[in-house]
Amino acid sequence: MRFIIIAITVLISTAFVADNPSVRIKKLIAKDIDYLINFYKKTHQNPEISLKEKETAKGLAEELRKIGFEITENFGGYGIVGILKNGDGPMILYRTDMDALPMYEKSGLDYASEKTIEYYGEQVGTMHSCGHDMHMTTWLGTARAMVELQDEWKGTLMMIGQPAEEIGAGAELMLNAGLYEKFGVPDFGIGLHSSPTIAAGQVGFGKGYTMANTEMIDIKVFGIGAHGASPHMSIDPVITASMIVMELQTIVSRNLKPTESAVVTVGAIKGGIKHNIIPDEVTLKLTVRSYSEEVRQMIHKRIKEISKGVAIAAGLSEDKMPEVIIPDSFTPANYNDPDLVDKMITSAGTAIGKENVIYAEPQMVGEDFSRYGQTADKVPTVLFWLGTVPEERMKSGNLPGLHSPFYYPEPKKSIESGVSVVSQALLDLFNNKKI
Ligand SMILES: [Zn+2]
Ligand SMILES: [Zn+2]
Repeated sequence: MRFIIIAITVLISTAFVADNPSVRIKKLIAKDIDYLINFYKKTHQNPEISLKEKETAKGLAEELRKIGFEITENFGGYGIVGILKNGDGPMILYRTDMDALPMYEKSGLDYASEKTIEYYGEQVGTMHSCGHDMHMTTWLGTARAMVELQDEWKGTLMMIGQPAEEIGAGAELMLNAGLYEKFGVPDFGIGLHSSPTIAAGQVGFGKGYTMANTEMIDIKVFGIGAHGASPHMSIDPVITASMIVMELQTIVSRNLKPTESAVVTVGAIKGGIKHNIIPDEVTLKLTVRSYSEEVRQMIHKRIKEISKGVAIAAGLSEDKMPEVIIPDSFTPANYNDPDLVDKMITSAGTAIGKENVIYAEPQMVGEDFSRYGQTADKVPTVLFWLGTVPEERMKSGNLPGLHSPFYYPEPKKSIESGVSVVSQALLDLFNNKKI
């Protein structure tokens, strides 16, 4: 009798476990994994750079259309929007980016990209070295799982295929094309990015600001040119520019509050053509990173003050003051909504085990996903890190970063954890709108 009761209990609990959504997700992924790995490798071999994602977008649109999504193509460049309406409930945006980078791949993989393109007159390779191919694959895998799981949730799933992330333009293109006006304002927005330092099978979350305001600033430094042997007849812009570069180092070290973060990097100095000619112009190219608007404005102010001050000290007249060019458009800092992060950490723990959900510290890189949460609608958004590093690389400590020609994700584990975390998070959010 006792044996029978135990047997019945086991049977009942087995039946119960089989009905559990997270178990269903795992089974769906197991069924789909070969398809997704194939899709991943095909995408990896066919990278298209920013604003040229024509075939990539077409392929993604086709994949979603055949599983029942309503598709809008060419929405803000090659952007695509896939909508799956499944009764009354919240609307959730899930975004992937689609673009690759103009560089030769050196990963040595048997499915490495061999595609080349003409880029500013030069023949260069193309490579998914930022892992956007992995983003597209987990995005597709999640869409396929959510279709199969339609009896488990109610609401509207908005799948965004975004172009031109690498040049910081794609999110703005899609929002300016009327994404929220045409398809509705989502209740939540989710995105992920491949991590080159977190092991495949794990995910990382940061709260609040996790990525920086990213902007490119040019400084044109003027001077008076002369023969290299007659420096006394010049006001040498190479010297003025050099002094500006050194003074700029004091912005972070002396003007920034020690508890805040910022970066001012001069990545290029361009001026002159020949050994014995003192030129009359030098251009400095800066990348500037910050989290808050206050710090960003302070850096702008100091760059202008330092440039002008050094030029005055060099004896330059008012009409030869440096020109500081700050474009209006920049990639804003990514802000992860703290409540949504808490919710997603719980979902991720359910999906892949709490031990595989780790804290990810903020970085000064930029990501235009931030824009989806920064319209007047203030949609709560989270961009989390998907661990992609193969086990042997984790052990060896050889961890090529994003945009490295040697970077590659471990496909199977990364896809499995990406799809299960996002699918679980979507189910939890759809079933519990108020957080
Ligand atoms: Zn990138
Ligand atoms: Zn990226």
